[in-house]
Parts: sequence; structure tokens; C-alpha cells
Amino acid sequence: MLSDLLTELPGRVITDPDVMAAYSRDQCGAAESGTAAAVVLARSTEDVQAVLRIASRHRVPVVTRGTGTGLAGAANAIDGCIVLSLAAMAEILEIDPLNRTARVQAGVVNGDLDAAARRHGLFYAPDPGSRAISSIGGNLATNAGGMCCARYGVTRDHALQLTVVLPTGAVTTIGATTRKDVCGLALVPLVVGSEGTLCVITEATVRLTRLPPARATAVATFASTATAVHFVAESLHEPAAAELMDRVTVRAVNRMTGMGLDEDAGATLIVQLDSADPDRSVAACVAAAQRQGALDTFWTVDADEGAMFMEARRAALPALEQLGSVLLDDVCVPLTRLAEMQQRIDAIAERCEVTIGTFGHAADGNLHPTVVYDPAEPGASDRARQAFDEILRAALALGGTVTGEHGIGSLKTAFVGDQLDPVGRELMHRVKAAFDPDGILNPGRAY
Ligand SMILES: Cc1cc2nc3c(=O)[nH]c(=O)nc-3n(C[C@H](O)[C@H](O)[C@H](O)COP(=O)(O)OP(=O)(O)OC[C@H]3O[C@@H](n4cnc5c(N)ncnc54)[C@H](O)[C@@H]3O)c2cc1C
Repeated sequence: MLSDLLTELPGRVITDPDVMAAYSRDQCGAAESGTAAAVVLARSTEDVQAVLRIASRHRVPVVTRGTGTGLAGAANAIDGCIVLSLAAMAEILEIDPLNRTARVQAGVVNGDLDAAARRHGLFYAPDPGSRAISSIGGNLATNAGGMCCARYGVTRDHALQLTVVLPTGAVTTIGATTRKDVCGLALVPLVVGSEGTLCVITEATVRLTRLPPARATAVATFASTATAVHFVAESLHEPAAAELMDRVTVRAVNRMTGMGLDEDAGATLIVQLDSADPDRSVAACVAAAQRQGALDTFWTVDADEGAMFMEARRAALPALEQLGSVLLDDVCVPLTRLAEMQQRIDAIAERCEVTIGTFGHAADGNLHPTVVYDPAEPGASDRARQAFDEILRAALALGGTVTGEHGIGSLKTAFVGDQLDPVGRELMHRVKAAFDPDGILNPGRAY
């Protein structure tokens, strides 16, 4: 296999163990990773075809990789696999301002596409916290969410047409660049979120959105997370974002950034509103927050000031990581169960004697309870894992999902059977077999 790779893909194959190690893990510290046989840095769809033909011939697993920012171990190497990196395929091929679409190679970084779109009065709406470092291919494969998804939708809502390579090396273009298309089965929504298990995406045409006339930002503190999320469910209508941080998270963010956010409140909510009349929209939002028990409120229509508050929220995960080892959850529940979810998280923290900092996309019902622990402390790792698992079970008990946006990867496979019924899961395995009969793409992961 190795000699085939070296012959057919000269200059693109890495076998140095130290260099390969850098391509063997994503950002999920809790998931296992194996040792790859080789890493290939693809530069074209033809390179990807060659890799998949060789892998199929030798029945070698392939782990496709964007920029490795995933949080579920989905891009972690499997022993003996080929890690296929698309990061070097990073060209924005076309911005079409009138049709409001962009055609990009899979390795383009989300933030680069967004910046290019903004030069045309447009933006790329799916905005994961990792937008400065994650690739469009990875975003598609995980159906990434983000801050603005409550209003603008997740990655799947913006994917129009994909060029994909099947394990045989065959290339196909699925979907259409038009706003409407009902020709044949909808393969694009199926491939989006499939975590590298069905095919390799090499190119994508995605939808762009007109920049909103103005964006206002409101910050409100509440006595508890439960009160904050109650406000979100009751009173917020189509916010561009409604980002939540509990007290533990705010303290961690202050410690890391020195931002001086209110540490005494139980929860801080950052709401962004896209509106033609931002003053009126934000005033109404603040008044509603006050009626619903906000302790303190602040608002601004200054875009830079608003962006600064969102930066504080983006700092949540790195800030919690500075406190110790972390196990990051990604549960999503119906909005009406959000307060109950938080109460269960608090009870789990107490029962398992761990610290849990919770932040997340409140308007989507998507929380990231993050268990912080010191692995050197006897029993702490076990208690942290217990808390992590209990949070997943609590989300399921409330009619939610074990993953809102990060994916199952290799981290949460044990919980798939708790959420999906056997018939649905078997159907997924048959779909996988139709795309990948030899099971070489990210085997054993996702579903
Ligand atoms: C600080 C931080 C903040 C984050 N915030 C968010 C957030 O707000 N919302 C969110 O959803 N996620 C978030 N994430 C998680 C992560 O950034 C996303 O999952 C992202 O979509 C992964 O993109 P990637 O290019 O890094 O993919 P990778 O981690 O390299 O891969 C992820 C998965 O996609 C597959 N894959 C990658 N490229 C392709 C391709 N071209 N074809 C087929 N399969 C492919 C891989 O096999 C793997 O299964 C965050 C991560 C960090 C570190």
C-alpha cells in the first residue's frame, strides 16, 4: 500500500512518525487515537481519487481530515490507516454575488470564506466558534453549528452542491447550485453530517447571505441559568445569537482574558439581533429581559463592541481548559426543557463531585456542559467520565440528543444505541454499505 501511495502521489505522502503524530488527533482530548500507516496531503480531487483507489485495493481504512478542530475524535487516526488531509485544498474557486453562492475547495477555512464573501456585501452564515481554524469540508462533514444558527440555520442549510469521491475512486457531483432542486434523492443533506463515513468531499457550492443592515448586542445577567434560558424560550424571537455562560465559565473567561464580566451573577446571556432598526429591537429585548428578572443589562449598537462580547463567549472553551483537563459535552434539548437540563447538570456536578462550566447556544437549546477535573487527583477521571455520561443520559431523558453539533465521532459511539432505535440504525448501516461496501471510510464511527 505504502509503495503504491509513494509511486502515485509523489511529494504528498508523509511517513515520518513525528510529523504523522500532528495529523493523528483532533481537539478532543478524551477520544483514543491510533497510529496511521501514512498521511497524504491531497492537492486535488484526482489525488483523493488515487488515495481511495489504493485504499480500496488494499482494504485499508481512510480517515479524512480537514483542519483537525473536531471535538468528537472523528478525525483521529485508526491503527494502520491512511490519514487523508484536505487542508491543502484551500482555494476559493468562485464567489457569485448575484446568485449569492460560493464554490470552494474543501480545505478552505470557514473564516476565509466569510471574509471573501463580506467584500461583496454577503457573509457565510454558519459560524462555529472555530471559524478561524476549521475547514468547510470538516464543517460539512460534521454539520457544524455555531452562534448565528438560531436565525440563519446550520451548515446543512447552506450546502447546495458537493463534489464527492467514493471509495472506488469514482467522482460524483451531488445536489444543485440552484435555490430549488427536487431531482432525485437528496444526497447533499445525507452526506452533510456523515462524519467522513460515506465519501470524501473535495468541493462545495454553498449559499451566501446578504449582510444584515445592522446588528445590536444586548448583555443580560440573571440569578441562575434556569432564569436566563426561561427568558430565551419565552421572549426571544429569532435572535441572530443567544449565547449563554454560567458563573463557572464567566470566572474562567475573566481569569484568562481579564475582561471583567460580572462574576456574581448565576448566568450571563449575550444576545445579538440583526435588524433594520437595531435601537428599537435591542430596547425591546432589554425591556423583556428586565421583566423576566435580569439582574443587570447592557446594550450596544456598536458592531465592534458587540463583537468583543462574542469574543468573550468564544473564549469559553479555552478558558475552561486552563482550569484543568476537560470533558466537553454537546447536548441539545427542546427549548422548553433547557432549564430542567441545567438543573440536572447542577445535580450531576454535585453528585459526581466535579466542576462543570456550562456555555452554549441557548436559542438552539444546545449546551456545552464542560466537566473540568484534575487527572492527578485520585478518582477524579472516573468521576468526570461518570458526570459526562450522566449528562448525555439526562439529555435523552428530556427528549434531546447526545450531540447537537460536534458529532458522535469515536467519543460517543456507546450512546448511539440509546438514541437511535435498531431499525433506524440498521438503515444507516445499509446506507453506509451502499456508499462504502468495504467499510474503509472512518470505520466503526458515528452511527
Ligand atoms: C475552540 C473550538 C470551538 C468550536 N466551536 C464549534 C461550534 O461552535 N460549533 C460546532 O459545530 N463545532 C465547533 N467546534 C468543533 C469543530 O471545529 C467542528 O466540528 C468543525 O466542523 C470541524 O472542522 P475540521 O475542518 O477541523 O474537521 P476535522 O476535525 O478535521 O474533521 C471532522 C470530521 O469531518 C470529517 N471530514 C473532514 N473533512 C472532510 C471532507 N473533506 N470530506 C469528508 N469528511 C471530512 C472527518 O473525517 C471527521 O469525521 C469547535 C472546535 C474548537 C476547537
